[in-house]
Amino acid sequence: MGTPLETREEQAVEIVDRLEEAYPDSTISLRYSNRLELLIAVILSAQCTDERVNQETKALFETYDGPEAYANAPQEELAEALSSITYYNNKAKYIRNACATIAEEHDGEVPDTMDELIELPGVGRKTANVVLQHGHDVVEGIVVDTHVQRLSRRLGLTEEEYPERIEEDLMPIVPEGYWQQFTHLCIDHGRATCTARNPDCDDCVLADICPSERGDSEIDLASGDPW
Ligand code: SF4
Repeated sequence: MGTPLETREEQAVEIVDRLEEAYPDSTISLRYSNRLELLIAVILSAQCTDERVNQETKALFETYDGPEAYANAPQEELAEALSSITYYNNKAKYIRNACATIAEEHDGEVPDTMDELIELPGVGRKTANVVLQHGHDVVEGIVVDTHVQRLSRRLGLTEEEYPERIEEDLMPIVPEGYWQQFTHLCIDHGRATCTARNPDCDDCVLADICPSERGDSEIDLASGDPW
């Protein structure tokens, strides 16, 4: 078991420093070339890998080229185009309805405020944060996905379980200039080393400051269960 730094602020800063060194090119892995494509890719990525989404969106983005095209696509046709993606029926519905709202109420432009974005079908705070950060260069919060959720708990930054509560805990302790990068660093480390089922603590740059480190700690703080 590692020993966390004295305060959560210090722990957060140290984690960011070390992960930045380990993953200097960390960034979003979804592919898109405009804000609408970004929004659609993020909606599709819920409970689906970015890799799979990227495979599907290549053809999708060539077929449909604006909010009206998605809004007017028949439900079955769009669902069929997304059929290798989890919950493709629901996601097709969200995309059609979100695009109809964008076309009718926002002059065809993806909104640039949290309030307007979360009004769109299928868009929660997490999706809105990604779109604001990468589509509009507006950083209003921290995107808490499954990796951020797991690592923040394992590393003792929060004891909360739900993404919105975790975000509230993280915002005061992660330096504001790193709110966006914090997510990508956690995702990279979560994929490469601190995986959900079998984290490689022996080869982890955070082992000495991680209270869940498997060498001595008996508990995975992410789940609260024994390793
Ligand atoms: S890999 Fe192990 S030591 Fe590293 S952050 Fe995850 S649980 Fe902690």
